[in-house]
Amino acid sequence: MSLVYLDNNATTRVADDVLEEMLPYYGDLYGNPSSMHFFGGQVSGKLTEARERVASLIGADASEITFTGCGSESNNSSIRSAVECLPDRKKIVTTRVEHPAILGPYKYLEDRGWEVSYLSVNTNGELDLNEVAEKIDDNTALVSCMWANNETGIIFPIEEIGRLAKSHGAIFHCDAVQAAGKVPIDLSDSTIDYLSMSGHKFHGPKGVGVLYIRRGTPFAPYLIGGHQEQNRRAGTENTASIIGIGKAADLAKGFVDVETTQVAPLRDRLEQGLLDTCMDAHRNGIGEPRLPNTSSIAFDYIEGESILLALSDAEICGSSGSACTSGSLEPSHVLRALGVPFTRVHGSLRLSLSVYTKDEEIDHVLAELPPIVERLRALSPFGH
Ligand code: PLP
Repeated sequence: MSLVYLDNNATTRVADDVLEEMLPYYGDLYGNPSSMHFFGGQVSGKLTEARERVASLIGADASEITFTGCGSESNNSSIRSAVECLPDRKKIVTTRVEHPAILGPYKYLEDRGWEVSYLSVNTNGELDLNEVAEKIDDNTALVSCMWANNETGIIFPIEEIGRLAKSHGAIFHCDAVQAAGKVPIDLSDSTIDYLSMSGHKFHGPKGVGVLYIRRGTPFAPYLIGGHQEQNRRAGTENTASIIGIGKAADLAKGFVDVETTQVAPLRDRLEQGLLDTCMDAHRNGIGEPRLPNTSSIAFDYIEGESILLALSDAEICGSSGSACTSGSLEPSHVLRALGVPFTRVHGSLRLSLSVYTKDEEIDHVLAELPPIVERLRALSPFGH
């Protein structure tokens, strides 16, 4: 069997239809959408269509969509805007399990005098709404909570958190990078002010993101010096990628159902199969609801990286519970926040499926992975 790609939370394949729509804009249709002539107009018309398609995926109005360079930029821009728009408020509330593209900017602000409160999660990976209510007050400029966690897949009670934020006049930002295209998102009657998405997580291209800004919410741009994107993000547009993310959003409207009917049963079969056949294997974060495509499993006595390398030899791609930072392996802050013991974090594997994952690929992983675990344990001084 050729490549089995189960690392879709890291990035996804560009759908064939997406690539097909993008290609002419790298070729003959290279006009600048800001140009007055017909040639630029051909491109700006497609950008309008892309904006409408993305808006339609999330129940927004096209005027509420700003294209950015990636999910990380959307997160950074939201944070920067909120603290600039509410300068008298010096508090921020977020969770311990956010992506580094949220935690990094908050660390930056913390070092410059802002007070950042980090909400904890329980061993299931769930937030405590009482703690959320305690932490938000009238001095809070911004509350940030991800829609779904990239490592465990746990989905947070976004609207409840948003209501608490709004009751104190704070801006509410949601990082929906992992949720978009996998679960329904409808912002038509929502408490979310800013929302981040990223093209490459739902079968669109890399290098393009979305920042949704609810109509009427104040916004201070991060990139200034150009009129593009309604003066909200200066710089000549990444036209082909914007057209690509528009097509990806269009496809995602159909994929959301497939995630529930097809991807979740495959993920459950994979997960249960591994838990049944591998001794001392545990699901990290058994909370619900969770994304249909994500599974995080810890294998005691061995290291996730060793499993990854052995899987990679069998052309199976996943990811581990650690990140390589400055040459050393840092245990995942998400799994640590859940209270997963240090050694178990190092033995963790994240497998993330997509609408393109096939039944026989799951059979292949179920055949290959348990013997790898056994073999590594036999080599490990802690194995048995
Ligand atoms: N937020 C979450 C939850 C993510 O999982 C990621 C990427 O892994 C990002 C933000 C960053 O997105 P991008 O890679 O487009 O910068």
